[in-house]
Amino acid sequence: MALTLFDTDEYRPPVWKSYLYQLQQEAPHPRRITCTCEVENRPKYYGREFHGMISRETADQLLSVAEGSYLIRESQRQPGTYTLALRFGNQTRNFRLYHDGKHFVGEKRFESIHDLVTDGLITLYIETKAAEYIAKMTINPIYEHIGYTTLNREPAYKKHMPTLRDTQDERDSTGEDGVSEKRLTSLVRRATLKENEQIPKYEKVHNFKVHTFRGPHWCEYCANFMWGLIAQGVKCADCGLNVHKQCSKMVPNDCKPDLKHVKKVYSCDLTTLVKAHITKRPMVVDMCIREIESRGLNSEGLYRVSGFSDLIEDVKMAFDRDGEKADISVNMYEDINIITGALKLYFRDLPIPLITYDAYPKFIDSAKTMDPDEQLETLHEALKLLPPAHCETLRYLMAHLKRVTLHEKENLMNAENLGIVFGPTLMRSPEQDAMAALNDIRVVEMALVHSGQAGSPRMLGILPMGLCPPRLL
Ligand SMILES: [Zn+2]
Ligand SMILES: [Zn+2]
Repeated sequence: MALTLFDTDEYRPPVWKSYLYQLQQEAPHPRRITCTCEVENRPKYYGREFHGMISRETADQLLSVAEGSYLIRESQRQPGTYTLALRFGNQTRNFRLYHDGKHFVGEKRFESIHDLVTDGLITLYIETKAAEYIAKMTINPIYEHIGYTTLNREPAYKKHMPTLRDTQDERDSTGEDGVSEKRLTSLVRRATLKENEQIPKYEKVHNFKVHTFRGPHWCEYCANFMWGLIAQGVKCADCGLNVHKQCSKMVPNDCKPDLKHVKKVYSCDLTTLVKAHITKRPMVVDMCIREIESRGLNSEGLYRVSGFSDLIEDVKMAFDRDGEKADISVNMYEDINIITGALKLYFRDLPIPLITYDAYPKFIDSAKTMDPDEQLETLHEALKLLPPAHCETLRYLMAHLKRVTLHEKENLMNAENLGIVFGPTLMRSPEQDAMAALNDIRVVEMALVHSGQAGSPRMLGILPMGLCPPRLL
């Protein structure tokens, strides 16, 4: 069934491992030991499983009936504190039990005691029985065999196919639960994504968040079952990759954001945006610069004069809604300062500034250096610290601003003026003070000075030609 979906040359389903799934099925079920008499001081969030202040020994006796039996007792030494007593492995385990609207003994929070015990028994059972297996499950990941990285290396991939096809476990993967197709979604998407030759492959880290999966789920890194009732693993908020928490540390930085998850354009991480839209630079930057240059660069105070803020907000909404289809033509926005304002706002709204916090000190060092050769060298080093998509965008912006300064006679905007406008927009110092602001201005000014000055071979093309290191996957 599920197999026919992938019956193409492009993709073969990975082999899902069922061992941990079977263990979860075998785990003891919760068995509530109820108290037959009325107990005083029963907190209203506990039910009949609450036995009041009984001793450890009494609890032990009550629980000895079967694996998975549980009850709650109040501490005799510390009234007001509660213990969950649970029978597992032929002995009674005691857990300090908390309630703050939800029930918990550790990190995970549960709606009901029954859920907490169910999850606890699964976890105890699997982590006892399969401790060694779990410790080793990240060693031979399936991840390398299924991603688009492998698809780009076709011969090696084809070599793997027969082994994948003939394995016994495959029958399990199409499984009795009927969820196999669904759980493959993010993998299928990854595997079938076509790489565009024109677009550089920027590296991007996944954005993992603890996640509760509904229904059985398998880790897309190690191919093992993700056990437990809630918070069974983590999910990438940008591309939807599902993995164990422990596997998330092994996954390479090859996140391919899905437009389904990346909904905004403004206020979205720059690398995430370009990867989601498969573009070299944020479309806002390309489209605004194209629009501004097509209207000529002679407008007085270009970038310094503010546009009407309601209309700038309108452009932002158009980009968030329509992406590259946003209409920013002269028919829509007659005033060029609306477009320059929208571009500046884009940079200001970035969660990580174009000149990142990491690279910031190096750029400042560079701006402070007096010796031109040394300055250029430091600038090289600073650029290398930028993520490639940031570097590429900075290069493109600087080349544009350089062209703006070539019309200085008309627009009255020189490198220093542009530095004043763009300094605080492109970078944010960890400590906001007047000195820092002054340095920011100097950085932009310096970058412009070094921006491909014709006739100066040493400076030629430093930014326009790009020093952006091609950190390929
Ligand atoms: Zn991701
Ligand atoms: Zn895993």
